[in-house]
Amino acid sequence: MKKVAVLYICTGRYSIFWKDFYKSAKSKLFANSSLEFFVFTDQDIDVSTNDVHLIYQEKMGWPYDTLMRFHLFSKIKDELKHFDYIFFMNANLIVEKEISSSLLPDKEDLFGVIHPGFYNKDPAEFTYERNSKSTAYIPQGKGHHYFMGGFNGGKSSAFIQLIEQLSSNIQMDLDNNIIAIWHDESHLNRYFLDHQERLKIVGPEYGYPQGWNLPLERKITILDKTKFGGHSFLRNEK
Ligand code: UDP
Repeated sequence: MKKVAVLYICTGRYSIFWKDFYKSAKSKLFANSSLEFFVFTDQDIDVSTNDVHLIYQEKMGWPYDTLMRFHLFSKIKDELKHFDYIFFMNANLIVEKEISSSLLPDKEDLFGVIHPGFYNKDPAEFTYERNSKSTAYIPQGKGHHYFMGGFNGGKSSAFIQLIEQLSSNIQMDLDNNIIAIWHDESHLNRYFLDHQERLKIVGPEYGYPQGWNLPLERKITILDKTKFGGHSFLRNEK
């Protein structure tokens, strides 16, 4: 039985998503593997089972709550080494259909989901980071897919390498007063481009926005944040 670590951040108001996320992931994600959840939060969330590890994390403010994710993950690197796989999932995801362990990358090392907003789009429209001074830079003409930052993962050693490289890249950008256009997602896209031969790519059935109608079978829903007060309310921007 494979051991899978699920990394989850819910600082501030994003903690409202935890309960339903956990229930859905616990019952439907990677059947026949053993899941443990690492939850970074500053809120009192209801945890009554021993498969959930709480890590106190203060809310840093937008966009740092999402941008600094790889810094947070690198703090628990030693614990993560004991797993076969590591996945990150955004707070507002719900696993709708049973997802078997065959989704775990086997011959590849890493796992990425095509962003639903860029599914079947011309790569010229991808919102990669275009500032050549950023470590997330991707020039026009390069890159075949635009990946979502909200669900990704890989074999433990490969994902720990990603965590180390991206925390260092993001830190280098910050030291140069640069924040990539889509934060962590821009850095992830650059990393996946650099490691594309080791990447398992799946479609937006694993990141299917609530209320959308794509010609795909819905497996994981991205809850519509406007139904929960909207982006700026959830991020506590006002
Ligand atoms: N996040 C958080 N607290 C915040 C803002 C963001 O915990 O105040 C985390 C949470 O895991 C969320 C992720 O950062 O799912 C990405 O945030 P964002 O609002 O950008 O979600 P997106 O719009 O990309 O779905």
